[in-house]
Amino acid sequence: MASIFTKIVKGEIPSYKIAEDNNYFAFLDINPIAEGHTLVIPKKEVDYIFDLNDETLSGLIQFSKKIAKGIDQALGTIRTGIIVEGLEVPHAHVHLIPIYYDGQPVSLGKKINVPEERMKEVATLISNSVEV
Ligand code: AMP
Repeated sequence: MASIFTKIVKGEIPSYKIAEDNNYFAFLDINPIAEGHTLVIPKKEVDYIFDLNDETLSGLIQFSKKIAKGIDQALGTIRTGIIVEGLEVPHAHVHLIPIYYDGQPVSLGKKINVPEERMKEVATLISNSVEV
């Protein structure tokens, strides 16, 4: 069965899309730990990130770099962090976490509430700052 992220790529379920190219797709995490918390995935569905072939893995990081730079520009971060866990959704992905101040807690456990309108706004802001 297709993963929930494959369904997002295919447009079968909605997402706060940020950007895509032929091989990768970026969208907001629906349970963010910081405003602008973004997921970046390879379109090819592989569960464990370290089972990706070298080309796909390095492409994922390069695509994530473009998105992270867009986050930094759009949201005025001090930098963007990267976390890989992958225990919930069996489709390889990286979490990009905007960091707004020194000492900001960065942990996948602590969710914040971002209203839907703001999620849409943030996705558009980042999207407009990304060139893929
Ligand atoms: P993990 O697999 O532990 O790295 O985390 C998976 C992440 O996917 C979690 O942070 C979820 O909030 C996020 N997530 C699950 N379903 C969706 C969805 N439909 N759209 C956006 N993010 C999602």
